[in-house]
Amino acid sequence: MTELDNIHSQVVSCTKCDLCKTRTKAVPGKGNKNAEIVFVGEAPGRSEDLRGEPFVGSAGKKLSEMLEKAGLSRDAVYITNVVKCRPPNNRVPTELERTSCIEYLNNEIKLINPKIICVMGNTASNSILGKGEITKNRGKTIKKDGRTYFLTFHPAATIYNQELIPVLEKDIQNLVKALDEIKGT
Ligand code: URA
Ligand code: SF4
Repeated sequence: MTELDNIHSQVVSCTKCDLCKTRTKAVPGKGNKNAEIVFVGEAPGRSEDLRGEPFVGSAGKKLSEMLEKAGLSRDAVYITNVVKCRPPNNRVPTELERTSCIEYLNNEIKLINPKIICVMGNTASNSILGKGEITKNRGKTIKKDGRTYFLTFHPAATIYNQELIPVLEKDIQNLVKALDEIKGT
């Protein structure tokens, strides 16, 4: 068992916060353990809670489409969330839930050691970078504690506001460019 598998099994049986009482399945991150890009969302929704996999519902479909357009396959990247269990009715996870869960995300990132981390939406941006206002900060690359982050909207936002689709698509293409620059290609 790899160290990443070990984190996944800790998540699956975790009872560190009250979300364990209402979840169907906890949702560890999924993808390539050598990924150059890690994508971070907020928390599982209904489809994810049932399947135990991240971004497999309608937001996930949007994300997959956008990755494909940017020339990225889901198998090449790693996709995860700040909080690994679904909050009831998809409410925003509380501060306590986020702080209870953040160690799993930190460990996933430490083990994968990606070149860039794509932070999607306000909850992820707040939790990881202490920055809200994703509308203002999206498209930016930020360095913090030796890591590089790229900020963009949450793909679910494009379901309610179709005008954001081209914005998010462009951001993901710019994310790939930022990665290429980091690699010096
Ligand atoms: N929204 C998220 O933030 N994460 C998922 O896994 C699915 C929807
Ligand atoms: Fe554990 Fe995170 Fe699930 Fe809370 S949300 S029970 S901390 S895995």
